[in-house]
Amino acid sequence: MNYDYSLTIDYLLDWYDLNARILAWREDPNPYYVWVSEIMLQQTRVEAVKFYFERFVNTLPNIEALAMVEEEKLHKLWEGLGYYTRVRNLQKAAKIIMNEYNGVMPANYEELLKLPGIGSYTAGAIASIAFHITQPAVDGNVLRVMKRVAGSYDDIMKSSVKKELEQDLREIIPSDRPGDYNQAIMELGATVCIPNGKPLCEKCPIMHLCNAYQQGIEMDIPVKTAKKPRKIEDKTILLMERNGEYAIHKRESKGLLAGLWEFPNIEGKLTASALEEMLNKQGLQNFTIENLGEGKHIFSHIEWHMVGYLIRMNEAMTVKEPSFDGYLPENNIASKEKYIWASVKKIDKEYTLPTAFKTYRQCMTN
Ligand code: SF4
Repeated sequence: MNYDYSLTIDYLLDWYDLNARILAWREDPNPYYVWVSEIMLQQTRVEAVKFYFERFVNTLPNIEALAMVEEEKLHKLWEGLGYYTRVRNLQKAAKIIMNEYNGVMPANYEELLKLPGIGSYTAGAIASIAFHITQPAVDGNVLRVMKRVAGSYDDIMKSSVKKELEQDLREIIPSDRPGDYNQAIMELGATVCIPNGKPLCEKCPIMHLCNAYQQGIEMDIPVKTAKKPRKIEDKTILLMERNGEYAIHKRESKGLLAGLWEFPNIEGKLTASALEEMLNKQGLQNFTIENLGEGKHIFSHIEWHMVGYLIRMNEAMTVKEPSFDGYLPENNIASKEKYIWASVKKIDKEYTLPTAFKTYRQCMTN
């Protein structure tokens, strides 16, 4: 170990006792609550997670309820959080816990690591917070804080750097309060040693121990190698409206946004006239097109650059052609699948449309 992190323990715990935010999953740190909250916190700020967490555990109060809930309802409870693979993994793990652990979350770090969607960070958080096991929980926040404290220019994108820090912390984590120590570092990273902008060093309880602060290099740490640039995909999104209902389609069960619902969409960005011509070729004649403007959505490895159109199919056409199924654009990625028509109210209540479509979703009218 290059830096003696044990020096930070008392200062961080004292600070945490005074400054910890009151959160539902901290008030009742049972394994299920800690698990659900940690998975949500991987993608969203604490303030936003509060709402989603309450809704989730009020509807699914325990592991058994999570294991049993149908997929559509599960997605709906996660709507707005994104990264739907995470909630599917939550359910997969819940089913394993029901079948192999009698419905009780294993109080063992190695067993937790075997469950889908649980890596070393989440296993460490559950083990230490819910079961008081002396395991660290090292995520980007903890890496940033501890690398600053140590004044280290290690590249935190390297898994070897994370593993080394986990080992260093495992050796010193206090056995009487392992969960609080982990949470104290996370809390400091979220509120004082912040990721974007200048850290609030003058408020930091370990300022006197911090090499980065003392050397004036806190803005140079952590070092992160640049990620590969994201792939750009152009798309044309179609809000097909007929009698106050909109066409939506369920995506395939594998891959990006698996099993969620989407508006009809076409690869590439079409102009209104190109789209009109294409729909005419498909047999659609009696409709209006309104340009809904550009939109962008960023996934971890892909960016969607979109243009959207509202296509109102008029009543005469609707009576003659009750289904849109025969008029799917040939190059629609899902042209072989069936579309359904649903009102805005029904979509809001029953179908999960991912945030990627948010720009156009708000263009639907009742
Ligand atoms: S002194 Fe500043 S840089 Fe060092 S740990 Fe505290 S907030 Fe972070």
